[in-house]
Amino acid sequence: MSNKKTAVHLDNIVALCKRRGFVYQSADIYGGLNGVYDFGHLGVLLKNNIRELWKESVTQTDHGQVLFLEGALLGPRSVWEASGHVDCFHDPMVDCQNCKSRYRADHINLEKACPKCGQKKWTAIKQFNMMFKTELGAAVETASDAYLRPETAQAIFTNFKNIMATNRVKIPFGIAQIGKAFRNEINPRQFLFRMREFEQMEIEWFCKQENSDMFFDFWQESRLNFFKQLGITPEKLRLRAHDKDELAHYSTKCSDVEYEFPFGWQEVEGIAHRGNYDLSQHTKHSGKDLGVFDEQTKESYIPDVVECSVGVDRLFLTVLFDAYQEDVIDNEQRTVLKFSPAIAPIKAAILPLTKKQLEQAEKIFKNLKKTNSDITFDVSGSIGKRYRRQDEIGTPLCFTYDFDSDNDHMVTVRDRDTTKQERIAIDKVAAYMQNKLKA
Ligand code: ATP
Repeated sequence: MSNKKTAVHLDNIVALCKRRGFVYQSADIYGGLNGVYDFGHLGVLLKNNIRELWKESVTQTDHGQVLFLEGALLGPRSVWEASGHVDCFHDPMVDCQNCKSRYRADHINLEKACPKCGQKKWTAIKQFNMMFKTELGAAVETASDAYLRPETAQAIFTNFKNIMATNRVKIPFGIAQIGKAFRNEINPRQFLFRMREFEQMEIEWFCKQENSDMFFDFWQESRLNFFKQLGITPEKLRLRAHDKDELAHYSTKCSDVEYEFPFGWQEVEGIAHRGNYDLSQHTKHSGKDLGVFDEQTKESYIPDVVECSVGVDRLFLTVLFDAYQEDVIDNEQRTVLKFSPAIAPIKAAILPLTKKQLEQAEKIFKNLKKTNSDITFDVSGSIGKRYRRQDEIGTPLCFTYDFDSDNDHMVTVRDRDTTKQERIAIDKVAAYMQNKLKA
């Protein structure tokens, strides 16, 4: 077997996702909706695994409790005025006057010609607000402006007092949320990397100002470790501190966890020291005091916040890039997703060698399904084809019921990464699988 990691192109990933039903272009039969995607069965399983590992990783801190929230997707204008999104959530936009293509001005070189038509006829740069605006209510006169949230964080800040009051929780503590966010990106691109509808996993960590730098460091390290726990190649990960001129309007310090994609090092997660900007802004705009009473000093203060924000879809794309390999086995080229077992959408496949072994193999399948629901059963095609199919979706183990199984009560187990095969007793299959999945 040649095991050389070949250069992966985005096209390979897009094609595999479509072929195997991980991701579909949304409204494909109507020509698709740019920057919007639907997730098929395997995509849903992979996303769920990513979400579960994230939940585990953010709650495993000894520093304080982490509570969950599921905020609404719609928010009134007042929330987004207070957060600064109405005034500041802009991207610079430029149009080509010749072919009318539209670009993010900071993503192209305006000294050069338009990449599409080759002419250099740029308009002046305009600021484009990326929030999706809508109106509430049926009658236009009574309609009030609302926005689809461009990040999940604000619902955490506006509910801060509710959450503290109803959960008997003390600073420091965190509020975590997984949910959809919407941004009218000027140029959605690179598949799941830059979408218009996507999902974020965010934790806002509330602490006293004097501890905020310490917690900023703590979360940087903790988040980087999460990526390693997902099985992502450590050499392809780095933490990059923002320069002063890159900082968002609310943040005093920010670091990105970046991954080395074929299109360069790119942010996958942002870790931001937001100071007490958000709670102060909402206190000012709502007129409600969002301060916390300190029993020691007998004074009220507004806590600082460290935010960790990662896109589920961008992380999904990252794990696909990292897992994707092409190699040659027995002179045959194969594509394999070398997912860590914890995120693999399907953990094992049961394969009867011929239709005659269907009944016995099904018995093993049903038993195994009691211990883990992400198991599949495949009877169609040659055994080689079925192995390739499982390799392509990243299934770590295949158990084959073969001609000897009736006599020796054993099956052949094949390892996805090494393709090595060994025989194990049928009554040991469940334990074998649990053991391998833990590794
Ligand atoms: P970028 O500079 O790439 O636009 P950002 O700095 O605006 O990202 P944040 O506002 O910090 O992004 O959002 C936090 C995380 O949400 C990002 O690290 C990314 O994983 C995800 N994310 C942001 N925008 C998108 C998008 N348009 N599509 C997919 N994921 C996104």
